[in-house]
Amino acid sequence: MEDIKTDLKSLSLEELKAEMETIGEKPFRAKQLYEWLHVKLARDYDEMTNIPKSLKEKLSDGYTYTSLNIVEVQTSKIDGTKKYLFALNDGNLVESVWMKYHHGNSVCISSQVGCRMGCRFCASTIGGLERGLLPSEMLDQIYAISRDTKERVSNVVVMGTGEPLDNFDNLLKFIALITDENGLNISQRNITVSTCGIVENMRRLADKNLQITLALSLHGATQEKRRALMPIAEKYDLDEVIAACKDYFEKTGRRITFEYSLVGGVNDTEEDAEDLCRLVSGLNCHINLIPVNPIKERSYVESQKKDVMRFKDKLEKKHINATVRREMGRDIDGACGQLRRRHHNKESQ
Ligand code: SAH
Repeated sequence: MEDIKTDLKSLSLEELKAEMETIGEKPFRAKQLYEWLHVKLARDYDEMTNIPKSLKEKLSDGYTYTSLNIVEVQTSKIDGTKKYLFALNDGNLVESVWMKYHHGNSVCISSQVGCRMGCRFCASTIGGLERGLLPSEMLDQIYAISRDTKERVSNVVVMGTGEPLDNFDNLLKFIALITDENGLNISQRNITVSTCGIVENMRRLADKNLQITLALSLHGATQEKRRALMPIAEKYDLDEVIAACKDYFEKTGRRITFEYSLVGGVNDTEEDAEDLCRLVSGLNCHINLIPVNPIKERSYVESQKKDVMRFKDKLEKKHINATVRREMGRDIDGACGQLRRRHHNKESQ
């Protein structure tokens, strides 16, 4: 049987200390290594100047060291948003986005290679799921972008390709590492995890009592409308999803964000807005309205500006917090999974 090697960058400091003990190294080496991995963001062992050659050899024999290679970077001429296409060690491709806001720099990361959730308007799901990302591979996207831009990342959104709650254990390890005070030390409050609504894992997440923001991809305000856009709605009824959102707020005190992609003629009518008001009434939440980013594989179109405004006004009249999300990087392959798909299509031609 093939040996499965331990993934060095996915280990906590405590776990790394235990590893050092097993391989006959002093505990302080763990701290040094951890710093190279998670603070100095070393790409490989060569950069680790205070680690002896003998230890580097043990490590490269016994452990895997993930790193990403930049395949392509697209920079928006409108707002400086950068979209990265990375190759993982096994050759799979993932994409991440770097966005500059007034309040800080934000990175949107992928949690899986591909996705099996099947949302009808989403490019990431078209080829299905390849595999979940390791905690280290989620970190690597942030680390590689920090190195490339030479700027600090203050916010992380897990909203790229993949369903984070379909890669639950690795997601939790990733959050522990990125928020660790010995690492990049990003505040839990500056992390958002977006889910299509896997109810049992939303509840498991609530029980972890973290201070991260949970974003729920709603896209329809009735069970029927939601089911037309999102196959996951076959499995979980809208009532159950909303109950899990309430539970998340009650347990963590964190306001829920609802993502609502406006699809022309599908979910953007006045009646849809009224249904949405009814659905979220009494809930402490924020609604992000996102005009759908059309992908060429599907016939959906974005809502017209006037319909977006009418929709937003309806919500505001009922005192529901809503923003129309600024469309970052529309001039580059902005929608989830579009850059990766374009590469796949090119390769299969
Ligand atoms: N699987 C997670 C996170 C990834 S998608 C989730 O479903 O939330 C991040 C957000 O972008 C989701 O709200 C998703 O529904 C939305 N999205 C995907 N493709 C889109 C598109 N073409 N236009 C607008 N929003 C899209």
